[in-house]
Amino acid sequence: MPMPYRALASVAVRLEGQIYLFDAGEGCQVNLKKTKLGIKPLRVLAVSHLHGDHCLGVPGLLMMRAQVTDPGPLTILGPPGIQRFVEGLREVLAFYVNYSISFCEWNEGIPEIAYQDEQVRILWGPLKHTTLCLGYRLEEHPRPGKFNPSKAKTLSIPSGPLWGMLQQGHTVKLADGMNVSPDQVLGPPRPGRKICYAVDTQPNKTLYRLCQNVDLAFLDGMFLPEHQEEADAKGHMTVDDAARVASRAGALRAVLIHISPRYTEEDMERFVEAARQRFERVEMGADLQSFTIPYREVL
Ligand SMILES: [Zn+2]
Ligand SMILES: [Zn+2]
Repeated sequence: MPMPYRALASVAVRLEGQIYLFDAGEGCQVNLKKTKLGIKPLRVLAVSHLHGDHCLGVPGLLMMRAQVTDPGPLTILGPPGIQRFVEGLREVLAFYVNYSISFCEWNEGIPEIAYQDEQVRILWGPLKHTTLCLGYRLEEHPRPGKFNPSKAKTLSIPSGPLWGMLQQGHTVKLADGMNVSPDQVLGPPRPGRKICYAVDTQPNKTLYRLCQNVDLAFLDGMFLPEHQEEADAKGHMTVDDAARVASRAGALRAVLIHISPRYTEEDMERFVEAARQRFERVEMGADLQSFTIPYREVL
């Protein structure tokens, strides 16, 4: 439940003016407003599962988005039942939306790529919880390789617009009629950034796969290690479990979220301490915290 001192788990990823939102717990739209990210750029809402703390914020979010002019289509990803949940609420509450909503529900045998657009793809898979819960991995498409000016000069390509076109991946024609393709002047494609979002789960194969070599992993860190039994019974992880997953999966960095409401801010130091025994680059997430994910250096 949302507490006065801690909101529910929800992660917004902003990339080039688009927002991809993972989970919408109760009151989610209030914090989204506080972030000033805006609601119009919301393009995808990926819901992990149909427990209230992850989806009761959906109707408020959809209503808020209907208050802006021409917000554009929205895709909702989620477990079986997410469409019925949203459409049922729309019918009963009779709220109007001024944009189209397309749904994609996870099912056994469905492709691992849940969504794709011009900048990212989102992968998904079933985690290990008390009900079907999905983990997500957002991958930015690879970027073109680094432009090599000396190669361009060797090929007598005049600097200026032609360089720009090559950098953007277009073949150009030189004054002498010769064609130059981007691969003649660009290095190998550079990998895009990757994020994993996986809460309400215990470690399983899918979790490791979704977390593999990500730049940033948002993981369930609901309990302290001393409450392992409870974590197991409720289908959650301790910070110790989560840090171990991040470390073994080769994540560059991990942020642990979805802390049990029983713990207060004073306990956070113990959380960090326990997690860092397993993985150095881990921290506890806080409401409204933001992270900038740099591109990795390509040697
Ligand atoms: Zn749950
Ligand atoms: Zn939960």
